[in-house]
Amino acid sequence: MILLLFGPPGSGKGTQARLLSQWLGIPALSTGDMLRAEVSSGSDLGRELSEILQQGRYVSDDLVNTIVIRQLEAAPHGMILDGYPRTADQADFLRRALGERSLEAPVAVHLNVPDDAIIERLGARRICEHCHRVYNLLQRPPQYDGRCDDCTTALTTRADDTPEVIRQRLATYTRVTTPMFVHFPCNIPVNGNQHPDAVFSEIQTVLSRLSDWVSQNTRLGISPTPCTT
Ligand SMILES: [Zn+2]
Repeated sequence: MILLLFGPPGSGKGTQARLLSQWLGIPALSTGDMLRAEVSSGSDLGRELSEILQQGRYVSDDLVNTIVIRQLEAAPHGMILDGYPRTADQADFLRRALGERSLEAPVAVHLNVPDDAIIERLGARRICEHCHRVYNLLQRPPQYDGRCDDCTTALTTRADDTPEVIRQRLATYTRVTTPMFVHFPCNIPVNGNQHPDAVFSEIQTVLSRLSDWVSQNTRLGISPTPCTT
């Protein structure tokens, strides 16, 4: 299964990617993870990429796309993509590239969280500037009020976690992401505004239904279009 995980910043995508990876037994990779994997593979492309990164140059869309496809081709049981595609162009590329290689169409899971809930979540985030540990006053508060459990440094708020900045990031996310969904007809919305365990269980239920359907129809020789359930 190729699973695309979409969700605005602060929607808990990283947590769900980790849980889904354990459950499905397939890797969950962010774009950064894929670039690093290519570099450490020592391939020609990896060496080219390594130079670009060392020089602090911009990694082009084409290069990112090529690397994503290589990683997908090398993942026999599929992969969870966390944060890719990021633009409508990348989404278009991915859809065409998978089709050309007869790889399965991806299933897109979208974590829906209302803007106000995101603002509350991210606004409750505190960081330790000394050891970089991240806290959340709502979900993972420090043991001692306002101080890091590990190094007792006073916790601070990130400059981009203010409501105005978060609203701008959410607006950008919606503007950029919405046009992508035409490329992925199998787009499953999930209520991301609940406890991470409940979100995970909702995703598990939906995906289990899909995979029953897929395995039945694959046996029958019908190419799977799981979202028609
Ligand atoms: Zn600390």
